Amino acid sequence: MSLPFCNVALPLPLRTAFTYAIPDALRDSVQPGSRVLVPFRNKSLVGVVVECVQHAPESTKIREITKSLDFIPALTPKLIELGHWIAGYYLAPVGEVFRAMLPPVTELRIERQIALTDSGRSAAQKQAVTTSANQQHHALLSQLAEKGGVMPFASVAKLGWGDAALQRLRRAGLIEIRQSMLGRKAKTQRVIAWKGVTGMVAAAAQTPACDAKAESVKAALHARGPLPLSQLLRVAEVSRSVIERMLRDGFLESWEERVDAAEDPFDAGYVPPAHDLNAEQESALKLVRARFELGEFGVLVLHGVTGSGKTEVYLRAVQETLARGKTAIILVPEIALTLWIGRQCRAWFGARFEGVAVLHSALRDVERAREWWRVRNGEARVVVGTRSAIFAPLQNLGLIIVDEEQESSYKQEETPRYHGRDVAIVRAKMENAVALLGSATPSLETYHHARDGKYELLTLASRVEQRAMASVEIADLREDFAKTHQTSPISSALHAGIQECLAQKTQALVLINRRGYSWSVLCRSCGASVQCENCSISMTHHKQRNRLECHYCGSLKPIPKQCPKCQSKYVYFFGEGSEHLEERLRKEFPGARIARLDRDTARTKRQYQETLSAFASGALDILVGTQMLAKGHDFQRVTLVGVVSADSSLSLPDFRAAERTFQLLTQVAGRAGRGELPGRVLIQTFYPEHYAIQDAVKQDYPAFYERETQFRRVMAYPPFTSLANVIVRDTDLQKAIRWSRQLSEYFSPHDGKGLRILGPAAAPLARLKSEHRFQFLLKSPRRSVLANVLSGAMTYLELKEIPETAVLVDMDPLSLM
Ligand code: ADP
Ligand code: ZN
Ligand code: ZN
Repeated sequence: MSLPFCNVALPLPLRTAFTYAIPDALRDSVQPGSRVLVPFRNKSLVGVVVECVQHAPESTKIREITKSLDFIPALTPKLIELGHWIAGYYLAPVGEVFRAMLPPVTELRIERQIALTDSGRSAAQKQAVTTSANQQHHALLSQLAEKGGVMPFASVAKLGWGDAALQRLRRAGLIEIRQSMLGRKAKTQRVIAWKGVTGMVAAAAQTPACDAKAESVKAALHARGPLPLSQLLRVAEVSRSVIERMLRDGFLESWEERVDAAEDPFDAGYVPPAHDLNAEQESALKLVRARFELGEFGVLVLHGVTGSGKTEVYLRAVQETLARGKTAIILVPEIALTLWIGRQCRAWFGARFEGVAVLHSALRDVERAREWWRVRNGEARVVVGTRSAIFAPLQNLGLIIVDEEQESSYKQEETPRYHGRDVAIVRAKMENAVALLGSATPSLETYHHARDGKYELLTLASRVEQRAMASVEIADLREDFAKTHQTSPISSALHAGIQECLAQKTQALVLINRRGYSWSVLCRSCGASVQCENCSISMTHHKQRNRLECHYCGSLKPIPKQCPKCQSKYVYFFGEGSEHLEERLRKEFPGARIARLDRDTARTKRQYQETLSAFASGALDILVGTQMLAKGHDFQRVTLVGVVSADSSLSLPDFRAAERTFQLLTQVAGRAGRGELPGRVLIQTFYPEHYAIQDAVKQDYPAFYERETQFRRVMAYPPFTSLANVIVRDTDLQKAIRWSRQLSEYFSPHDGKGLRILGPAAAPLARLKSEHRFQFLLKSPRRSVLANVLSGAMTYLELKEIPETAVLVDMDPLSLM
């Protein structure tokens, strides 16, 4: 059974795993998925066992594993399989793939627990014990049963039990070994339930008659199931004494429940909306249910216009999944949304089912590790998180939801360069689960598959409660300029619109897609722009901080008094950013309450939440900000959304520019008119005739899809071809050139044989963080052709001794910069 060697993936930018010998003492605990400490060169590294093997390669000297960090393997076999797929598909170093999948290493705080399983419990109850080994088992099992089924490992060890013996009991199915994070004692909250619902108490049948307050408590618990006390008090609108009395009278029961570690403070008193589904939502859910009935892998696309109530469908789909005894992942595109969706999930499932875990990169390592192990131990059955939550170690996975599947934040722009949505689909397939991709503006790839029948399409065509879609209008900046001869970022139409909001005491959102004050500094004499020294990109002027910043590498410069090239004094600042816009709005609307939300003002989660809450509560009239504002938020009193420039995203040298612009404008339009009040959107542009803008005005996704696919087909871009972007980079220009030439020699014989190879050319970002960059673009209608040529290239690099880190492969790139 136990094999003498294992292959370990180490957190290094290398494409191979390393073989180590497993010392006898560790044979029982080292399994595929276990994290181990190993010697590597003259260091110690934490790696993960990806495979146990009978033989080691003969050529090298095999060293031994120093220590096993896990008693139960951190990664499940399914996750190991997924990791191998990612390494293969994205041509990523295995070690870095597995590092991205593992919880943060906070070893010293790990605690092990030994828990009795159901069969362990019945074995403990049996009397007849024959052999002495069985007697020993029996003693431990009874002890566990006495202690309520769980004991810390340390206490079990004191009774003389070692790792190997415990593993035998585990393999016999009598005990379970759990790992969890040691730390502050978890907070608990009191949960109240209606006894008649869960228990068998006859008294519950007779409601305390004529008591309106008790009726209201009953109704609340009936509709929502058990609720935390604080929440119940709000929903039922009764005082604490009413609950206490009902508890005494035996109508209710209560217990203490752990509050999830990653819970946010806004949870207290949060009451989730409970809606009956409308007909469209109902039929979408019916299709999800039908897919569950089939019990097999499938991809569903939920195309629902903004405000159509997709979240409600997600929550019910998760509910059905849990009811079937399975688990679910909900991926959201940004951290702020994990709070929002996480809160709703906890309200829905936290009390009724075992728990909800939240995973994202802004959690502290200890918190993240704790949440991770709760999931691994089966204590949480719903995971809400950003991109990397797709690696949550859930077992028996039934459903993966990807909200706003088109969002670029699902693509990791560093090694391993995976796409969270695509990995979600692959994982769903491996686990025979259902993937549900939701969006108001699906990516072209996803919609394409929905059209050709590979995915199933569910549509929510209208907003809830017959609310109207916002009306979208264009402010033609050419006309505006002809009339006013002013170059203000705020057109006369936008100015009038904001004025109207202020008069009616409603709210306005104003979007601009760059932060900072001005995004370019130019010399009027010689035309030079001030560029970053490390990157071929112009530096952004930040007025309040009084300096220039590079938004790519973060380098800073003082504001030049004269041109760095020709020394002329005629330096001017060009292109408005959010800081400029805020200043301008304050000038034009002196009485208004204005705030700005972008990466400069929302440096922390708290600042971000505070600004959003202030706006939601009506303490602000105008909110200015970047794309951050476009996503997800449900503001009720917004009647106007202004987009300062639709053109800046349209003019990017990128084949997805039109798609991005259309998505942004549609998302933005979705922020207006979500409450009772009708909404209006004003898009400022110099190119009103562009189809991305025209279709966004009509909010006509299918029309946009048709036009954009024509362009993609003609130009041979995704979804009609597979694409790989290969960047060769080094701080030494000569090396970068030499390696590009070598790689080109390898590529050229393949060109034209089922794939096209463009390059090498200077990358659009020819310098980035001090590195010189050259680019190849590989296109093929057949992904397998692309994959073969690229994996051949990896072997070639090794042969030519080109460092692996010098060549970046981006499979299915989102951006070609
Ligand atoms: P989407 O994500 O599709 O833009 P949301 O899920 O945010 O839309 O829902 C928009 C609003 O509609 C939310 O405030 C939600 O509570 C509400 N809502 C959802 N379903 C219904 C329904 N069936 N009836 C009334 N309101 C609903
Ligand atoms: Zn100059
Ligand atoms: Zn830079």
